[in-house]
Amino acid sequence: MRKPKIAVIGSSSMDLVVTSKRRPGAGETVLGESFETVPGGKGANQAVAAARLGADVYMIGRVGEDAYGEAILNNFKSNGVQTDYVEPVTHERSGTAHIILAEGDNSIVVVKGANDHVTSAYVKEKRDFIETCDLVMIQQEVPEETVIETAQLCYELGVPLLLNPAPAREIPKRVVEQVSYLTPNEHEAALLFHGEELATVLKKHPNKLFITEGAAGVRYFDGKEEVLVPSFPVEPIDTTGAGDTFNAAFGTAIAEGMDLKESLRFANRAASLSVTGFGAQGGMPGREEVERGLA
Ligand code: ADP
Repeated sequence: MRKPKIAVIGSSSMDLVVTSKRRPGAGETVLGESFETVPGGKGANQAVAAARLGADVYMIGRVGEDAYGEAILNNFKSNGVQTDYVEPVTHERSGTAHIILAEGDNSIVVVKGANDHVTSAYVKEKRDFIETCDLVMIQQEVPEETVIETAQLCYELGVPLLLNPAPAREIPKRVVEQVSYLTPNEHEAALLFHGEELATVLKKHPNKLFITEGAAGVRYFDGKEEVLVPSFPVEPIDTTGAGDTFNAAFGTAIAEGMDLKESLRFANRAASLSVTGFGAQGGMPGREEVERGLA
């Protein structure tokens, strides 16, 4: 099968994770137990997942002028993601997430840094390249105007766009009309459609709106009836990145020309495998593992 060419427009960051027994209060210092740096960001996660599944992936993103930026680029390269369109931002820091794991829960401070420079102008500069892609993927860790203008651009170019509306944020109606695929989880769907009954909303967007429901799978309206494509039973270890793997696998399958239902099964299989490993990128499966699980 031909390798599909996918552009992922989105965030990349470094997660700085400390574990400690107790969360420090205001003005307090505590001793932690471990420290790790883990590459993340929804855009980067989806790019890495799609590359592992066999797509020819080009990241369109930005990093800072710092050591994290280099580490983020190296991580792309070691996962086979093309970095021609990941340009460093002068005098800016890479995006970071500062995570404290304590008392069985996490607290996170996100600093967007260079990700705020994934502007619509930056995307439009790549118009000629985007036109050659089989599919474009985008999420909402980049400025809102980037999502709006990318939807317009892909619509004009006739290149299908998969919008994963995460983290939750409202989206103008025109964007919903212009995108080819929209993949909120239940929480994001409730916000997007202002609490309107989801069965009604699904009917209004046949074969476009795909609502993921965790272990249950994914729901959509096929033009005749509502369909639930079930996920696969697994023992979940860490569900971080399930949505990112789902989107990457769905996009890869669609870009390869699989039909919708087959693509959703492929995406469920990949995402279900991803929750059996630690971390977002840590659990992302390769192509063979997914195919073995589907046989
Ligand atoms: P998000 O991670 O964005 O909140 P979901 O929780 O809906 O999204 O998960 C996305 C997809 O990941 C689901 O549609 C399903 O395919 C898969 N998935 C998530 N959790 C599980 C689970 N516990 N068991 C099997 N599959 C899962």
